[in-house]
Amino acid sequence: MMKTNKVAKEEAETFKGTLCARAQKIGLHLSSRQLQQFYVFAQLLVSFNERMNLTTITEPDDIISLHFLDSVAVWPELAGELRALTLQTPHLQVADIGTGAGFPGIPLKILVPQLSLTLIDGTRKKIHFLDHVIHTLPLNRAQAIHGRAEELAHSAVHRGQYDLVVARGLAPWAPLMEYVLPFVREGGLCLAYKGPGFREEFQAAHAALNILNADVERIIPVIVPDRDLQRFVVVIRKRGRTPRRYPRGQGLPRRQPLMKR
Ligand code: SAH
Repeated sequence: MMKTNKVAKEEAETFKGTLCARAQKIGLHLSSRQLQQFYVFAQLLVSFNERMNLTTITEPDDIISLHFLDSVAVWPELAGELRALTLQTPHLQVADIGTGAGFPGIPLKILVPQLSLTLIDGTRKKIHFLDHVIHTLPLNRAQAIHGRAEELAHSAVHRGQYDLVVARGLAPWAPLMEYVLPFVREGGLCLAYKGPGFREEFQAAHAALNILNADVERIIPVIVPDRDLQRFVVVIRKRGRTPRRYPRGQGLPRRQPLMKR
């Protein structure tokens, strides 16, 4: 059944009101343009999700907390690091690897419009969705690229090109590091979005970080407002060049994770 204009308008206002209030609790003040972009993004997510499998999170309230705020809650905490990074580049070059339906990349881009954003995913239909989102909101300096991290990371267009690489839900520690660090420029950062269980596989991360010339700089606990959810963003600094042979192909990052030898 078609929603009447009145119902649709009320839904939009409720959505934006809830998002605005929860964002304020974590120190984020969203403009009416940003609220509108988040609302349109949520609408597109729900409507495309009826035809393709993009996300299991489809209730407006859950989209607000588990997708949108979870993606952006860490941003105010990173002010110091980001200032240092942007001193060198007017537009921070950001890549989101294994972005799926655009998380955390699209919410970050709505929050910080001056970013240059590259979204990467190995599933073509997700790229089709993201192209539609970029075109509709619209987002400038944003692109969605279809491809596997282990291939794109060897192309000169992407290797070592990003100030900041973000990833949520892509892979366990060792393969995650092998996938994402090659994209980061020397001295740049990676943000790994993790749940409370991240410490258990953390040992594996240290060996991988050594081999790939990176260090854990900081672990930032993130609270998602109005949810009893403990999340962490692990900030990783790329110290030096990633050895040429990484990332490996043929599923090796997952099948034979980097370990101390
Ligand atoms: N970041 C999103 C999606 C997580 S699901 C979120 O947090 O909601 C993991 C996504 O990574 C999927 O969309 C999958 O297609 C993609 N993916 C998995 N391995 C990949 C690889 N090696 N290269 C590129 N994308 C990959």
